[in-house]
Amino acid sequence: MIIQLKKDLHSSDLENLIGKISSFGYKITPVSTQVGDYLIGIGSKNIDIRKIGHLRGIQDIHMVSDDYKLVSKKWKVKPTVIELGDGIAIQDGEMAIIAGPCSIESEEQIINVIGHLKESGIKLMRGGVFKPRSSPYAFRGLGMEGLKLWYKLAKEAGIKIVTEVMQVSQIEEMHDYVDVFQVGARNTQNFNLLDELGKVDKAVMIKRGISGTIEELLQSAEYVFSGGNEKIILCERGIRTYERASRNTLDLNAIPILKAKSHLPVVVDPSHGIGIREYVPQMALSGVMSGADGIIYETHENPDKAYSDGQQTLNFEQSALLAEQIRKTFALRKTFPLL
Ligand code: PEP
Ligand code: MN
Repeated sequence: MIIQLKKDLHSSDLENLIGKISSFGYKITPVSTQVGDYLIGIGSKNIDIRKIGHLRGIQDIHMVSDDYKLVSKKWKVKPTVIELGDGIAIQDGEMAIIAGPCSIESEEQIINVIGHLKESGIKLMRGGVFKPRSSPYAFRGLGMEGLKLWYKLAKEAGIKIVTEVMQVSQIEEMHDYVDVFQVGARNTQNFNLLDELGKVDKAVMIKRGISGTIEELLQSAEYVFSGGNEKIILCERGIRTYERASRNTLDLNAIPILKAKSHLPVVVDPSHGIGIREYVPQMALSGVMSGADGIIYETHENPDKAYSDGQQTLNFEQSALLAEQIRKTFALRKTFPLL
């Protein structure tokens, strides 16, 4: 059960409410976000809502029996728009395009990528400064120094930054230089990290875990929301299956399912999803047709020289073409009543 509370509720009314609802056999967790105040009730399913509905301070009550609640569409039908400032938003009725290298490598590389994005009308740039690598000997990112440099250049260009945060201790130092905190597939169930990202007033993009279910992704998003942050984006980036012909199995089934279950925006990452450069465009366009609100992919001036994930990275020419085709495909999708 989700109880939406009235604004500026007196603390004695709140205590009274919690006491009353608990007495019907519910365990109550209060949640306060940038947007509103809620009580989450876990327990008895057969309550007569009229016993609670009249209590002072209640704006609305919703019976949501799924394990995830606040991220569910069952109480919030309207899609959540993630505003990033300067008129840039996700799930605002346009298709978001997030492009950039796997890793931030140098000042020169940042300038090159930003130049390409500007030319292609792309307003969101991805890139890692803290890189989760399977091998400890691989390039692990430029860290805060790289992020600060990137932030300065991106800000001048009016471009927003999407970058991975790997651990709780990085949140504070990264905070002022990031527009969207990315939670990587290896951290989807790092619940301490999710708890802490609930406390910041910045967007958080959560990638689906390498072996994670759709339900688990939604539960991870629930951590961030219930921690106090409603600005969440879900990302399908492929899962580990028995198939070895592609890096991962991009689960496009997840897109309509996530869109039906949640009010949060969903983006697709075809780069990590298939892991093969030549096939990234068709999977990106399939992602658009499957109902995604955005596409995130890797691009680099010279992919074969990229410090990481070059094999799945598009060059600027391919990226410019893809961005154009994403927009055209989206325009087409809008004309299909079934979608
Ligand atoms: C990335 O986006 O560079 C990345 C490491 O992705 P994932 O966490 O999905 O593997
Ligand atoms: Mn990568």
